Amino acid sequence: MSNYHPYLSIVIPVHNEQENLEELYSRLTTTLDKLNKPYEIIITNDGSTDRTGAMLQELHARRPHQIRVIEFNGNFGQHMAIMAGFERVRGEIVITMDADLQNPPEEIPKLVAAMEAGHDVVNTHRLERQDSFWRLFVSRSHNKLREWMMPKLKMKDEGCMLRAYRRNIVDLMASTGEATTFIPALALNYASNPTEVGVAHAERAAGTSNYNFYKLIRYNFDLVTGFSLFPLQVFTLIGMLISMLSFGFVVFLMVRRFIVGPEVEGVFTLFAILFFLIGIVLLGLGVVGEYIGRIYQEVRKRPRFVIRHILEEGSNKPTVARASQLEQQAEG
Ligand code: UDP
Ligand code: MG
Repeated sequence: MSNYHPYLSIVIPVHNEQENLEELYSRLTTTLDKLNKPYEIIITNDGSTDRTGAMLQELHARRPHQIRVIEFNGNFGQHMAIMAGFERVRGEIVITMDADLQNPPEEIPKLVAAMEAGHDVVNTHRLERQDSFWRLFVSRSHNKLREWMMPKLKMKDEGCMLRAYRRNIVDLMASTGEATTFIPALALNYASNPTEVGVAHAERAAGTSNYNFYKLIRYNFDLVTGFSLFPLQVFTLIGMLISMLSFGFVVFLMVRRFIVGPEVEGVFTLFAILFFLIGIVLLGLGVVGEYIGRIYQEVRKRPRFVIRHILEEGSNKPTVARASQLEQQAEG
C-alpha cells in the first residue's frame, strides 16, 4: 500500500452498473478535483455479471493512487460491499454513495462542509425524489412505520445512501462484524453530533434497480430487527390482550352454560375467532423466526463476504486476499 494520505474516502458499492460507471467517474472526479483535497475512491464490485469488473480495472489504471477496487467473490449485498470499503478506508471523512447517479456527486461538497462544521454524521434526505410511484409509496409508508417503531432513530429518509461519516464512526461500524446490518442506522448508534441535509435526487441514469419488491421487504426487516425489539414486544402485548379477552369469553360461555344450558349456535363465529387467532400466532412465529434466523447467521461466524482480489497502488498484480487463503487452508 502506498503512503498516500487521503482526506476524503468515497465508498461506492457496485452491482451491474456498466452503463453508469463512465459518467460516475467523470462527474465524481471533476467534483472532487475542485475540492482540492487529497481523496480516494473505493469501489466494491459486488458480484457483477456484466462488464463492470473489466471497466473498474480500467478506471483503476487511469488513477491508480486514487481509485481502489475491491472485487467480491460473489453477490453479498450493498451493505456488505460498503462494509468491505469501510474496512479499508484511509481518509478522515468517509462518504458513501450509489453508483447509479441517483445521488448526484455534485452534492458532495455540501456534505463535506457539514462535516467540517463539526458534525460526525451527515444524513441526507432526498429533495424531489425521482422514483416510480410504488417505490415512493413503499418508502413513505416504511419511513412512517419506522419513525413509529424506532423513535430514537432520527432520520427523515433512510433510503438515501449519500451520507458522510467521520472516520472514528466508520471504524466502529467496521468493527461490529455484523452480517445483516443497515449502515445509516448503525452510524446513528455511535454518532454524538449528527445532522441532516437535503440533497438532490435524480432518476436512475441507466440500467435497472437491483431491488425488487421482495428484496425491499427483506431489506426493511433487516433494519427493524437489527435495531429494535419492537415487533417482539408488540407480540407480547397482543398476546396479553388476547389472553385477557379470551379469559373473559370463557367466563361468559361458562355462565351461559349454566343459565341457558348446552347450545351449538355461533359455531361459525367461534371458527372465525379461531382462524383469526391462528393467524396471529403464525405471524408471531414469523416475527420470532426473523430474529432467530439472524441470530443463527451471526453465531455460525461464516465470513460475511469473500474478497477475490483488491486493485490498489502498490500491488502490481491483484492482491489475492481471503479467498485464496481459504483455498490454501483447505489444501494444507
Ligand atoms: N448494489 C450492490 N449490490 C447489490 C445491489 C445493489 O452493490 O446486491 C449497489 C448498486 O450498484 C448501487 C447501489 O447499490 O450502486 C444501490 O442499488 P440500486 O440503485 O439498485 O438501488 P435503489 O436505488 O433502487 O434503491
Ligand atoms: Mg438506485
